[in-house]
Amino acid sequence: MLMNFVISSCMKKIQMVDLKGQYSKIKEEVDRSVLEVLDSTAYINGPKVHEFQKNLENYLDVKHVIPCANGTDALQIAMMGLGLKPGDEVITADFTFAATVEVIALLQLTPVLVDVDPITFNIDVEAIKKAITPKTKAIVPVHLFGMCANMEAIMEIAKAHDLYVIEDNAQAIGATYTYKDGKKAKAGTISHVASTSFFPSKNLGCYGDGGAIFTNDDDLAHTIRGIVNHGMYERYHHDVVGVNSRLDSVQAAVLDIKLKRLDDYNKARLQAANAYDEAFKNHANIMTPYRENIENSHVFHQYTLRIINSDRDALVKHLNANGIPCGVYYPIPLHRQKAYQDSRYNEADFPITNQLVKEVISLPMHTELDNEQLEFITSTIINFVNS
Ligand SMILES: *Cc1c(COP(=O)(O)O)cnc(C)c1O
Repeated sequence: MLMNFVISSCMKKIQMVDLKGQYSKIKEEVDRSVLEVLDSTAYINGPKVHEFQKNLENYLDVKHVIPCANGTDALQIAMMGLGLKPGDEVITADFTFAATVEVIALLQLTPVLVDVDPITFNIDVEAIKKAITPKTKAIVPVHLFGMCANMEAIMEIAKAHDLYVIEDNAQAIGATYTYKDGKKAKAGTISHVASTSFFPSKNLGCYGDGGAIFTNDDDLAHTIRGIVNHGMYERYHHDVVGVNSRLDSVQAAVLDIKLKRLDDYNKARLQAANAYDEAFKNHANIMTPYRENIENSHVFHQYTLRIINSDRDALVKHLNANGIPCGVYYPIPLHRQKAYQDSRYNEADFPITNQLVKEVISLPMHTELDNEQLEFITSTIINFVNS
């Protein structure tokens, strides 16, 4: 204990996400670019938005990036673009952030929640197969915590049943998916259409709200460009019911600067994850995140442990008492949320999610973690679990 006190007294305060530390390293460039936007007065649909869009298309190697106001809108607009209709069933994971299921419900589509894989935390492929009915129209895999879902299998199922696949890529921008034959693709470019979020804490975050839709389909991209702009394809001609969802130029300026560093940022996250893995590797009661051999397949939006046979909630309290922030993503399965209950669900269909919500804990994860902080976090956890 005394030892811990000595370490922590001179240590930089540990944060779940250190936006300030990251900003301080790019401050001059960001400030200059943001001031340029202010001076230009091209606040909406300005050249900065277009530049960022092009740079992101190049980075992802995808034909179309359509910027929009946030990741939740991106998902909704992707579904609108595909022409999904009320009553269509959309299969998604029970263990994810509520935004995924929220937009399905908002569009009066029918969300069909299924269980996840205990190792990857991602949507379970067998559970998808079981949930398909004649009304099923789409599958929404979420690349949870920065790790790609089993896309190859999901795309095969979709093809066999003539379904759309929409990747919710809010947590995995920059991750690379490797196919069985060695071919590679960036997360968010594998399915028919994908959404992402630029919320400040995401791997590529702006300084407000932002999001984008990606697709390689020219017709769908055209449809979506109209939908984000009030359903207009020609000025003041409204062909479809659209929305108003825009990325503003100030956010695009910030994102363009951070995009150049995204691979380095993801590398810094990977290094922190490696340090966590190393520290926890011999502990029977701590299950570290699943890692494929391929280095960049996981971009660690979150570093999430399973605490086995120990009291996860007591650990959360212990960490907080020691000045270590942590998170429980997610504490309640979506199928048990009041808003998303459905008589078709059976508790027995969700054994894994029901278990995970009791065991998971996400540790501080960002680009600015140093060795002293990592050492303090890991030793505090190990001491607790061993005691
Ligand atoms: C953050 C997030 C969203 C929503 O993004 P916003 O930009 O906050 O609307 C959607 N899905 C997942 C999985 C997310 O993590």
